[in-house]
This record gives sequence, C-alpha cells and structure tokens, in this order.
Amino acid sequence: MFIRLSSRDARKGEGQVTTLRKFALLFSLFWLFGSAIVGWQVALETRQGWLGILVAALIGSAGLFATTVILLLRQMAMAASQRERLQELTQEWQATQHSLQQLLRQRDQLGLLVRLMQRFVSAAHQREILTVLLSELGLFFRAETAEGILFNEPILYGLWHWREGRVSVREGQTEEIRQNCPWADPDGFRNASPQEAVVPVISDGQVMAVLRLVRSIPFEPDDRQFLEVIAAQVSLALGRIKFIATLQTLSVTDALTGIANRRHWDGRLAEEIARAQRYRYPVAVLMVDIDHFKRVNDTHGHQVGDEVLRQVAERLRSTLRRTDFLARYGGEEFGIIAPQTALEAAKVLAERLRRAIAREPIQVNNELSIPLTISVGVAVFPDHAQNESDLVAAADAALYRAKQDGRNCVRVAEAPIA
Ligand code: GH3
Ligand code: MG
Ligand code: MG
Repeated sequence: MFIRLSSRDARKGEGQVTTLRKFALLFSLFWLFGSAIVGWQVALETRQGWLGILVAALIGSAGLFATTVILLLRQMAMAASQRERLQELTQEWQATQHSLQQLLRQRDQLGLLVRLMQRFVSAAHQREILTVLLSELGLFFRAETAEGILFNEPILYGLWHWREGRVSVREGQTEEIRQNCPWADPDGFRNASPQEAVVPVISDGQVMAVLRLVRSIPFEPDDRQFLEVIAAQVSLALGRIKFIATLQTLSVTDALTGIANRRHWDGRLAEEIARAQRYRYPVAVLMVDIDHFKRVNDTHGHQVGDEVLRQVAERLRSTLRRTDFLARYGGEEFGIIAPQTALEAAKVLAERLRRAIAREPIQVNNELSIPLTISVGVAVFPDHAQNESDLVAAADAALYRAKQDGRNCVRVAEAPIA
C-alpha cells in the first residue's frame, strides 16, 4: 500500500516539474519576443540600432536569468519535499517489517502452543509431559539447555541438551534437587540472568514444576510472557493427569477401608493366575469372613461396625507381606492373593491372620473394646483349581466349612475330584 502511494507521489512530483518547465519555456519565448519588440521600439525612437539590440539583449537575458532561478528554486524545494517523503516511507517500511516479524513470531508461538496442547492431551504420564515440553522448548528458543523439575512423587528431573537433542529424565530426592538446582528455589525465580528464563508452573497457588532455559542470546520480555502462557498450559495438563490418576485409584479402591475393591480383586486374580500358569508357580487364595459381625452392628450400631471393618482391614494389611494382595471382597468378607505361595505356607499365613484378629479386641474411639474372630478358607492354584473362579469357589467352600466347624479357624479346600 505504501509503495503504491510512493510511486503515485513520485509521478505527481514529476508532473508538476514538467508543467513548470513547459510554462517556463513558454514564458521565456514570450519574454524574448517582448524584449525584441522593446528593443525594436528603442532602436526606432533613438535611431540607434545597437542601442535597440542592447536593450533587447539586457531585458531578454534578465528574464531568462529570473526564469532559470525560479525553476532551480522550485526544483530544490521539490527535491527537499521528496527527500522528506522518502524518509517517511522508509520509516513506514521499517514499521511494516517490524509488525511482519512480530506476526511471524506469533504464528510460530501459536504453532508451538497447539503442538504442545495436542501432545499433552494424549500424554498418559507426567514424565511424558516433561519430556515433550523440554525438547519442544529447547528447540523453539534455540536454548543450550532446557531443564525441568516436576514436584511429583517421586520428584522428576528432566534435562534437554542441544548437543544430545534428547531429554533424559531421572527420579530425585527433594534434598538433592535443592542442592543441584538452586534455581528451583522459589527465591531464585527472580534472580535469573538475562540469558536464563526460569518459569514456575503453578496450580492452586502451589508450585507443581519449575522450568529453566539457558541460551547465549538474552530472553526478551515477549519470550518470558510466552513461557508463562506455556506454563499455564502445563499446569492444566499436569492437573488433568493427576485427576485421571485419582479417578483410576478411586475406581479400584474401597471407599470405607481404603484397600482394593472387588473390581480390582477380579483383575488382579486373573493376572496372577495367568502369570502363575506361565511361570509355573503356586498362587494361594484366602477368603476371610468376620464371625458374627451382624452382632457388632446390632449391638453398637453401623458406624461402629464401619470403624471395626476399617480396623480389621488395617490389621490384615499389616500382617501380610508386601507381595500379597488384600481386597474387600464384599460386606465383611476379605480376599487375599498370595503369589508364589504353596499350600503349607498358605496355611501358616491364614493362621497368622486368624491370630492377629483374635489376639486382642478391636478398640473403637478408646471407649469400646470389641473382641472379634475371623474364619479363613484357603485354596491353592493349581492344587485345588485350574482357573480363578474355581479357585475362589474352592476357598469359599473351605470358608463355609470353617464356619460350620465353629468359626475362628482355618480350613483348606478339598482336592478336586479327578
Ligand atoms: P457369620 O459368622 O456367619 O459370618 O455371621 P455374620 O453375622 O458375620 O454374617 P452375616 O452374613 O449374617 O452378616 C454380615 C453383616 O455384615 C450383615 C451386614 O449388615 C454387615 N455389613 C456388611 N457390610 C457392611 C458395612 O459396610 N458396614 C457395616 N457396618 N456392616 C456391614
Ligand atoms: Mg460374617
Ligand atoms: Mg459374610
């Protein structure tokens, strides 16, 4: 637009000069004609031909001189105004260049933001977010290093280096991170040098992560602003993953006791049996049922019953090994999967659990002391059953026998009829 304007202006200027020149030429011709007539008159009146010629020459040359001077001044004025216009146009062109560069930068920033958001949506773990983020930021800002600390559990530290071009992530301890990365300290955020950009990722007033970029060219305010926009997106992405993880945990956790629920039990049992079949090792299943639990509810009410269930679950959990899996099977019944546990070891484990409950009464709010016992049914894969449902049925049948035999005891499944 500006260029079209400038050529129009130039044409206009040239047109003015040409008109002026034509006018000056015409004027000069008239002036010379007039000078000749005046010279002719003078010569006639004085009868001195040379005087007439002299007068005509003087008047004529004075006119021509004046015309030339006017023409020159006019041209100088035109040149000055054109120089001014040229300066204006140069400035306008520079401004256009600047806004064009800004537009290109914004287009690139938007591109990165969209790319990150797409990757974040499909990311399943916080580690993945850190990896994607650091490599994209490192490349975009032409950084020497891009680092990030994710205050996860455990803490994750990621480093991208332009020479290696890939992100390495490792798990760290709070103390170690504090020592090796002083920039991750909340007081350090402000102390970043111009070649360094440190951005915290904040959610609900809590620092979830800190990012740091280092390069040889100083970061501009626009870069820092853009990094803050990215940090906001990272905060959303991390929050989303945390939320999904919470939902997943909730979906497999029993709300009352905090141990695994029936759904989790079913999945885990299928997995353990498949593994046991493949690697050929035994798996024990123990079904535990609280004896006369109805009486607890009837005597003390449901709330006390709930508290008793919680404490029984906790006592069972603390008696088991880390590799054993405890779930609330339903009501006041619990299930235990003990991988790589043969029949004899399973019986010992069941007896240990029975004693752990019978040993001392359950204390509720330091007011009530409720003596309790459990009955346990034990079945082992592959001795008693070949699949998970038969295995649970065998353990249930053994539990039923324990009840029949007077409760507070352990019974083992009978071998299947061949
Ligand atoms: P048994 O020795 O034959 O197992 O007797 P029991 O009383 O334990 O068995 P029963 O099946 O007759 O009763 C189980 C009781 O457990 C009945 C039910 O109200 C109670 N119960 C099941 N789930 C919960 C719960 O989440 N909270 C509370 N407070 N009670 C529960
Ligand atoms: Mg019961
Ligand atoms: Mg029951």
